Amino acid sequence: MTGSRSKHTVLLTQFPVQDNCLVVGGIPLTRLAQRVGRTPFYAYDRQKITERIQLLRQSLPDDIHLHYAMKANPMPAVVQHLAGLVDGIDVASVGEMHVALDTTMPARHISFAGPGKNEHELSCAIAAGITINIESEQELLRITHLGKHLGIRPNVAVRVNPDFELKSSGMKMGGGPKQFGIDAEMVPALLKQIGELDLNFIGFHIFSGSQNLKVDAIQETHEKTLQLGLRLATHAPSPVRMLNIGGGFGIPYFPGEETLDIHTIGQNLRNLLPTVKQELPEARIVIELGRYIVAEAGIYVCRVIERKQSRQKTFLITDGGLHHHLAATGNFGQVIRKNYPVLIGNKVLGEWEDEVSVVGPLCTPLDLLAERMEMVHAVENDLVVVLQSGAYGLTASPTAFLNHPEPLEILV
Ligand SMILES: *Cc1c(COP(=O)(O)O)cnc(C)c1O
Repeated sequence: MTGSRSKHTVLLTQFPVQDNCLVVGGIPLTRLAQRVGRTPFYAYDRQKITERIQLLRQSLPDDIHLHYAMKANPMPAVVQHLAGLVDGIDVASVGEMHVALDTTMPARHISFAGPGKNEHELSCAIAAGITINIESEQELLRITHLGKHLGIRPNVAVRVNPDFELKSSGMKMGGGPKQFGIDAEMVPALLKQIGELDLNFIGFHIFSGSQNLKVDAIQETHEKTLQLGLRLATHAPSPVRMLNIGGGFGIPYFPGEETLDIHTIGQNLRNLLPTVKQELPEARIVIELGRYIVAEAGIYVCRVIERKQSRQKTFLITDGGLHHHLAATGNFGQVIRKNYPVLIGNKVLGEWEDEVSVVGPLCTPLDLLAERMEMVHAVENDLVVVLQSGAYGLTASPTAFLNHPEPLEILV
């Protein structure tokens, strides 16, 4: 018990506790729940997002351009807030593009990645003047054709599927055969083609994977990515103006996982950048991050509807679950289901009990927010909080499943 209690205490340091109640954005959770008016809801702490950017700015070299990959959390208020703090926004659909264009971020610092961009998406992106990260030769030809039709010269970068993998990554998105990007060995020929077409060549985008907590693996990826960028740049039709080296910085979700040491990552980049700057003097070196920027600033809040005993097992049945927070139930790409950090937000330091399972209202055993977890004794109406929920939460959830009302989202 003591061991698990200390584990929980570590997690609690993320948000202050006042009168036994979690405080988010300076407001006690019970008050915040009254203000929202109903549960479940997501709350994102504005100050925490700002502090995260400050930490990145302090740790990474000054000449690194920091982009927000908004698919992690596309809530317009969050994107608006971040637009004033980062150097660019990366979008993955035309819907995200419109949210990004509503901010103060200039179009030239918005880029668009993703396989299977359709004509509508490409036309809007060309007209907006954002940079399109090309993911295939066919796409290159579609963009060229659409640009001609619109009378606008498209800005394009080449998304490269590297010839190496990001080791220890939670989700690999580069190396080997992938639907993302153009295989590195095919890129020189494609660059030649770009030079012959009516396109503005901006640079390269090399993204290898997501949710990485290993400093060594990230450093090795940075080294290899910059080398690959320099190698490909010798084939570029015009000077490289942007080299996006991806991101993939992870955050701790489960016991035993530790916060990433980004000072060390920053120091390594500081050593690597001078050579790159010398060879590519016009290039902005971009790091794009989603999860790392927003995940720890967000919580998901639901209410206990019922406490139920079934044989030896205690269940807290809540009004929230898989339909709002797929990732916390372990169904968003996880190989082994592990509990996200869950606590009782209005009774943070109450009486502890052994092993309760927190479930949602859906008619499926997959609707499981916490499996046999030690937590504070909770009853009807208490507020269950899932921490680390600011990224891939609502946006990555099947809200239509069982047709319950959509949860609200607030930025405080
Ligand atoms: C999803 C994605 C990201 C963001 O990844 P995180 O792990 O959330 O930082 C960045 N770049 C591309 C191309 C992506 O598809």
